[in-house]
Amino acid sequence: MSSAPAPTRHHAPGVRASLALLVIACILPVAVVTAFLIVHFYQRERAQLIDHTISRARAIIAATDRDIASTQLALQMLSTSTMLLKQDLRGFHQRATGLVDQLGADSIVLLDTDGTLLLSTRRPYGAPLARLGRAPLLQRILASGRPGVSDMFIGPLNGRPIFSVGVPVRRAGATVMTLNAIFTPQRLQHVLSEQKLPANWRASVLDTEGRVATRSRELDTYAGRQVSAALRQQLASASESGLATRSLDGQDVYLVYSRSTRTGWSAVLGIPSEELTASLYRTLAWLVSVTLAALGAGLALAWLLGGRIADSVQALVAPARAVGAGASLAIPPLHFREANELGHALRDAALSVRQARADMRESEQRLALAANAAHLGIWTRELSDSRIWCSEQWRALFGFAPEQQLSLADLLAKVHPDDRAAVRDTLNHTQHGAPRYDMEYRLLLAGGEQRWIGSHGSIEHDAQGRPLRVRGVSLDITQRKQAELEVQQKQKEVTHLARVAMLGELSGALAHELNQPLTAILSNAQAARRFLARPAPDLAEVAEILDDIVDEDKRAGDIIERLRRLFGKQDMPRQPVDAGALVDGVIRLVRNDLIHHGLTVRTELGEQALTLSADPVQLQQVLINLLMNACDAQAAPQLSDGVIVLRCARDGDAVLFSVIDHGPGIVQETLPRIFDPFFTTKTRGMGLGLSICRSIAGAHHGTLWAHNNPDGGASFHLRLPLAEAAP
Ligand code: ADP
Repeated sequence: MSSAPAPTRHHAPGVRASLALLVIACILPVAVVTAFLIVHFYQRERAQLIDHTISRARAIIAATDRDIASTQLALQMLSTSTMLLKQDLRGFHQRATGLVDQLGADSIVLLDTDGTLLLSTRRPYGAPLARLGRAPLLQRILASGRPGVSDMFIGPLNGRPIFSVGVPVRRAGATVMTLNAIFTPQRLQHVLSEQKLPANWRASVLDTEGRVATRSRELDTYAGRQVSAALRQQLASASESGLATRSLDGQDVYLVYSRSTRTGWSAVLGIPSEELTASLYRTLAWLVSVTLAALGAGLALAWLLGGRIADSVQALVAPARAVGAGASLAIPPLHFREANELGHALRDAALSVRQARADMRESEQRLALAANAAHLGIWTRELSDSRIWCSEQWRALFGFAPEQQLSLADLLAKVHPDDRAAVRDTLNHTQHGAPRYDMEYRLLLAGGEQRWIGSHGSIEHDAQGRPLRVRGVSLDITQRKQAELEVQQKQKEVTHLARVAMLGELSGALAHELNQPLTAILSNAQAARRFLARPAPDLAEVAEILDDIVDEDKRAGDIIERLRRLFGKQDMPRQPVDAGALVDGVIRLVRNDLIHHGLTVRTELGEQALTLSADPVQLQQVLINLLMNACDAQAAPQLSDGVIVLRCARDGDAVLFSVIDHGPGIVQETLPRIFDPFFTTKTRGMGLGLSICRSIAGAHHGTLWAHNNPDGGASFHLRLPLAEAAP
């Protein structure tokens, strides 16, 4: 029987899928780590760029501060002009006009403390001038007495956004006027261009209110425009910082600024967001491309290699199956050394299997030949499902068709109804313990034919000791059984013939056997008559004598019945017989004879109750015969002490009855013949008693023998099996 095949993993991945997984497992982590490093590097780069940009913003605002400061210095020098001291405003106008270009200003104006325009280089001297009013810068200069710079405002003369740098004009320590240089946004553009910023960057200088004082791009459009409130709030909260926002021209930028502590103005640089992230995206795109390319190449390789491995393995599947089936192999050359080695191993295995199968076939043939020659049917019965495998010989034996599926029920159905229960019991018993069994039973075949089967089975166990199956052989023992039955029949007939042959002689035996009870009845009757003839007869004694007469009469009837059976062919009925009770009964029956002979019997019984399976009257007959012979032997009282011993004891699995007398013993030469029929040394003897006794002992599977006692007299022993040991 082969062991159960290992369960197949239906969802196990193929070689290609496994290799593809391997490729992915190798490449993806590398790609992820690289992406992480790239992002990390990008963040560092970005931080550096922002730091660098903040430095540039700082440089721009510093340049702006310097510009304003140098303007203020020039204005302060102009404010100390003697022409102004001498109220020579014409000359001062001329001087100031000369300075306008040097300062790169739009104009220079002189205001009194009320904000009245006293002079403007934009107007010819003496032309009427507007009153500007007390602008915030004027107020600041008057309040602090220090130079200042205005926020962006719309110029009253040119209507365009401008800013002004102003200084106080002092007379005797008091500010009496302010001298201002008016600048257009273009004036500061150089502080941006000097930084040589990338063309797509946004750069601006904002006043304290977040209005554009100058700008690198589209200055005309955005000059004086105020940036968003969010940005203004950010500008107010920290002197330097960066934030992602949208520029005035709608560009997404990362904005970096630096605020001047002197003027409160800020330089703002906007790096287009896309520029900031472009390199990252480019690098990441590169990484993705490389990863995809590596994955593609790896997967293609995995596909190719996986296919080759799968092909090699697949190419070995059919040969491996062929090994199991014992067929020959054709293994093509394979792609891999290991696969080729496996192919060689399979080829070797196939050779071994073929050889083993051939050996097995041969041994099976030998076994089948032997089984056929011996008319043996071979079978195996699985205990799990009662399936039966059997040889053709067995099928023929049991009368099953060659292809018929067989079960235990089919088998039992064939068994003779009288034997079926016993067969079922034996089979069940085997299943539950006994390692092997032998049984004989009959089959009832179609047409009523009976066939005797001898079956030998032995059980096989698994590793845990659980019964697995029973194997065995069955053979037709009908001839042997018939021969046995014939022998038994013949024996019966022989016995019968022997008995018939003996019938003539045994009629004498009948007289012999009946002689004893009849004699006893006669002597009892005579005794009764004597008792009754007395003048005062003892009626109790008479009644006892009459009871004895009745017992003797019954025994005579029994003897006749037993002899009738003995001469007929019936088997004697057996019944449990207590050995002690048997001895007591015998003593009661022979008591009168003994008294008559002046003898006594000493019984020696063991304490243990011993039970025989026997015909009690026949055993009585034997013991009475032996006691009567002992009685005859001790008839001359001078020869003995007048005591006969009747002993009953256990002897192994048997009961041993012994009758021991103290007579003259048996003449040594006659000892071998005393059990022969008609051997007697007595003048009135028949010589049948011991012969009948021995045949009764034999019928009870017992033995009867005699020997002389060392101290005189003879002993007769009857050994009978105990009931439990009796066959
Ligand atoms: P019968 O009593 O009619 O002679 P048996 O078959 O009973 O026939 O006995 C055969 C012979 O065995 C006897 O004749 C006798 O010689 C001898 N025999 C039997 N029992 C005893 C005994 N207890 N002592 C001596 N001899 C005996």
